[in-house]
Amino acid sequence: MKIYDVVILGAGASGLMCASHLNKRLSVAMVDTNPKIAQKLKISGGGKCNITNVSVSEKNFDGDGEFISSVLDSFSKEDLLEFLDRNGIKPVVRKNRYYFCPHSSDEIIDLLRKKSRHVEMLLNSEAIGVEKKDDLFIVRAKKGEIKAKKLVVATGGKSFQNLGASDIGLKIAKDFGLKVREFSPALVGFTLQKDQFWMKSLSGLSCEVKIKVGEKTINEEMLFAHRGISGPAVLSASLYWQKGSLSIDFLPNEDILKLIKGSKKLISSVIPLPKRLSKEILKALEIKDMECKKVTPMIKSKLKSMHNYEFAPAGNFGFSKAEVSRGGVICSELNPQTMESWHVEGLFFTGEVIDVTGELGGYNFQWAFSSGVVCARGLLSVL
Ligand SMILES: Cc1cc2nc3c(=O)[nH]c(=O)nc-3n(C[C@H](O)[C@H](O)[C@H](O)COP(=O)(O)OP(=O)(O)OC[C@H]3O[C@@H](n4cnc5c(N)ncnc54)[C@H](O)[C@@H]3O)c2cc1C
Repeated sequence: MKIYDVVILGAGASGLMCASHLNKRLSVAMVDTNPKIAQKLKISGGGKCNITNVSVSEKNFDGDGEFISSVLDSFSKEDLLEFLDRNGIKPVVRKNRYYFCPHSSDEIIDLLRKKSRHVEMLLNSEAIGVEKKDDLFIVRAKKGEIKAKKLVVATGGKSFQNLGASDIGLKIAKDFGLKVREFSPALVGFTLQKDQFWMKSLSGLSCEVKIKVGEKTINEEMLFAHRGISGPAVLSASLYWQKGSLSIDFLPNEDILKLIKGSKKLISSVIPLPKRLSKEILKALEIKDMECKKVTPMIKSKLKSMHNYEFAPAGNFGFSKAEVSRGGVICSELNPQTMESWHVEGLFFTGEVIDVTGELGGYNFQWAFSSGVVCARGLLSVL
C-alpha cells in the first residue's frame, strides 16, 4: 500500500490552502466526503465568498488571543491579499469592510484547485477514523485505508451537514487524547420566547440596530424572520451569547426623546423606522400611539427602552443554519508556529476544527487560510 508523505482530511478552505502551499516533491492526498471540493467556499457570501476584512486582529475571534495572533501574524490579511493578487484575483471591498471575490467564489476555488494539482484527490470518501502504528497514520475511509507519514485534520465544524460537515475532527482529536471543546452552533439566528413573538410578525423587515451582548457591542443590520431574528447583527451577537439576556437599541443613531420633542405628530410617525415596526415596538413596550406633545414623563421613560430593549433569546436556529461551529481542538494542544499537536508527532489541525471562531465578515475564511498556510510551512519544516 502506498505511503503518502501527507494526507489531508477535508478538501475545504483550510485543507486546500495548506495543500496549495506544499511542495510538489511531496506525495499528498486529500480525502473528502463530498464528490466536489470546497463546497462551503462555493456557497459562501451569496456565491461571492467574503474572504477577509479590512481590519483583522485576534479581537475579532472567540478563542485564545495569543495563539490566534501568532497564526495571523505568520500569514496575515495582507499576505492573503498579496497571494490572491499574485495569482490574478483582486478582491473587492464592500460596505467599506468586507473583501469579496470580484465575480464569484469559483475564482478562489479554481485558484486553489490549480495550486493543488499535484495532490491526489480522494473524493466521495468519508473518513471514519484514524490510528497511528509504527509512526504511520492509518486513515480508515469509506473507500479503504490510506497510510501517511503526516496527517492534517482539516475537516471543519459541524454546521451545514448537508455540505459534508461532520465532527470527525473532534473524534480524531479525542481518540489521540487531545483536549477539545464540543461544537455548538455560532453565527446563527435566535429563536424567541413568547414575550418577543411580536418580532415574528415582522418577518422580512430589517433595520440597523446596536446589540449589546456581554462585553460586546455590535452595530449592524438585523432581520426579522419567521423563526425568530437573524441578519448580520444577530449572527455576530450569537458568537458571544451564552444564554441569558442581550439588549437591542432600535434607534442607534437617534435619540427618541429628541425625536418626539415639540411634535404634533403621532409617536409612530416620528420614529425613523418602517411604520409596521414602530407600531409593534410601541405595542411591545405597552405604549399607546399618541401625539408626541401628549407624552407624559412615564411614557418618556418607557420610550427610552427603545434604546435598550432587553430580553433573553430562547435558543438558536441550530447547526443546520449556523455558519460556523464554536468549539474544537483546544488551542493550547497545538504549536501555533506549525499547527502540529504538541503531544502526537506528525498530527496537524487547521481551520474551523480548532477552537477559534471568527465574527461575521470574512474572519472565518481568513482563519482557515492563515492556519492552512502555517500548517503547510510546519509540514515543510519536517519533511
Ligand atoms: C452558508 C455559509 C456561508 C459562509 N460564509 C462565509 C463567508 O462569507 N466568510 C467567511 O469568512 N466564512 C464564511 N463561512 C464559514 C466558512 O465557510 C468556514 O469557516 C470555513 O469554510 C472553514 O474552513 P475549513 O477548511 O476549516 O472547513 P470546511 O471549509 O468546512 O471544509 C471541511 C471539509 O471537510 C470535509 N469533511 C468533513 N467531515 C469529513 C469526513 N468525515 N471525511 C472526509 N471529509 C470530511 C467536508 O466535506 C469539507 O469539505 C460560511 C459558512 C456557511 C455554512
